[in-house]
Amino acid sequence: MSTATKVNVHNFSAGPCILPQEVLRKAAESIVEFENTGLSIIEMSHRSKPFEGVMVKAQQLVKELLGAPEGYQVVFLGGGASMGFHMIPQNYLRPGGKSAYVHTGEWAGRAIKEAKLAGETVVVASSEDKNFSYIPKGFEVPADADYFHFTSNNTIFGTQYKAFPKSTVPLICDMSSDIFSRPVNVADFALIYGGAQKNMGPAGATVYLFDPAQLGRTGRKLSPMMDLANHAAKESMYNTPPVYAVYVSMLTMQWMKDQGGVKEMERRNAAKAKLLYDTIDRLPMFKGTTAVEDRSMMNATFVMTDAALEPSFDALWKAAGISGIRGHRSVGGYRASMYNALPIESVQVLVDVMEEFSKKNG
Ligand SMILES: *Cc1c(COP(=O)(O)O)cnc(C)c1O
Repeated sequence: MSTATKVNVHNFSAGPCILPQEVLRKAAESIVEFENTGLSIIEMSHRSKPFEGVMVKAQQLVKELLGAPEGYQVVFLGGGASMGFHMIPQNYLRPGGKSAYVHTGEWAGRAIKEAKLAGETVVVASSEDKNFSYIPKGFEVPADADYFHFTSNNTIFGTQYKAFPKSTVPLICDMSSDIFSRPVNVADFALIYGGAQKNMGPAGATVYLFDPAQLGRTGRKLSPMMDLANHAAKESMYNTPPVYAVYVSMLTMQWMKDQGGVKEMERRNAAKAKLLYDTIDRLPMFKGTTAVEDRSMMNATFVMTDAALEPSFDALWKAAGISGIRGHRSVGGYRASMYNALPIESVQVLVDVMEEFSKKNG
């Protein structure tokens, strides 16, 4: 296998993104044969004993890593976080009731769009006035809302809540791009959800962690496929779950646990983010695009003060084996995504390239 070339790439992709090398190797083996069963992980029944074991383990690891209170349930579904945008109002919004959202970027916006299709939706705060470069603060959530939804990390714009908003109504969070990157107090949330492909595993699985006591209160008639309680009652096997994505997510969560859990992930992520942001702030040639206090530990967005230098900077980082730092078209410039599996050595390579480029062109 060409593992030697693989590890020389510094993968800053925003998602799907870097996974631990040892997870990839184990995942690759399981395609040929899964744990002495004589079968590939992708050619066995999802109702077989071995796969049931994978599903149970994956559910347990979500709860264990995040320290979920007794009674919280975990469901793995397909459809991405984007299907979650639709499922949330279905499961939490009473007909004639209202929902509350904060608008902090592309994904928050899509969640709001889905909520508006389902009923009254109050946007309690928005950072659209400054191209989503900050996290709104000091807003009020209407006490009569059925739920309040926010996006903990804004993958495209590079902002992240450092303190979560308080809410007297059920709190729902899209944590797609920073789940397992730091400890959270799960008891504060009615529901946490996220697509797997940013910190947890490959694309194809979406995780939902929720308090079942908050479900089934709307009086809505739900399609069984949209009903979280149904999926929970059927152990995520109402229909065929995304077996391979769940398996690789399970391996990645086991890796996180072995490394010391989400506290250790947070320590590493903070060190990586500090290294890069300090460099952006030190070198006049580069400039961060977001409010300093809201900077994301996962996705660092920055531009060059002289955009004409971009092509030669691009040539230099590409030559250093760096991949995936071109910014999203709605921000421009660069976005370095530093998910859990990215080693600090890769950030150091980027920082060295930035220093070298500044020296040559400063
Ligand atoms: C990537 C992303 C999504 C979209 O996830 P899909 O799995 O593609 O539907 C939603 N929310 C956030 C915060 C994301 O980063």
